[in-house]
Amino acid sequence: MKVTVDMSLCQDHGQCAIASPAVFRMDDEGRLVYEGEPDASLRDEVEEAADVCPVQAIFIDG
Ligand code: SF4
Repeated sequence: MKVTVDMSLCQDHGQCAIASPAVFRMDDEGRLVYEGEPDASLRDEVEEAADVCPVQAIFIDG
């Protein structure tokens, strides 16, 4: 599974990091960092993160 975040859309509010802390987190400066190729077992929580993102910036491929 591949995960991409459109950082031109992302507003760093961190809802994704709450929904899927294994894949998304906020760094020390409050910017989003994420795992681009998470294990397939994390699909449900990544989909949840994509759902809760207020700007629909998270894309899942594969
Ligand atoms: S929920 Fe969306 S806007 Fe917020 S940090 Fe995550 S990707 Fe960015």
